[in-house]
Amino acid sequence: MPKKIKSDPSKRYKARYGSKIRKKIAEIERESKATHQCPKCKTKSLKRNGTGIWKCRKCGKKTAGGAYKPKTPIGAKVKRTLKEVKQETEE
Ligand SMILES: [Zn+2]
Repeated sequence: MPKKIKSDPSKRYKARYGSKIRKKIAEIERESKATHQCPKCKTKSLKRNGTGIWKCRKCGKKTAGGAYKPKTPIGAKVKRTLKEVKQETEE
């Protein structure tokens, strides 16, 4: 189970980081606690079960993904780039 955070998550980081980064962290914390769509049963039952591990409460499907989101924007970019590279080599 993820740790319960009582106060505003961004407050824990104080002024050490800029407000933009604190906002980003708050967003990541929110995303990491939110439920996401399961790739198998398509219900919004996918919950973070640890860093990079997501588990569906409905069908029990376990999936590896981003540390804080099932699919990271970086992961999608890597996938896209790989596809482009593949297409280039095939032509
Ligand atoms: Zn599922």
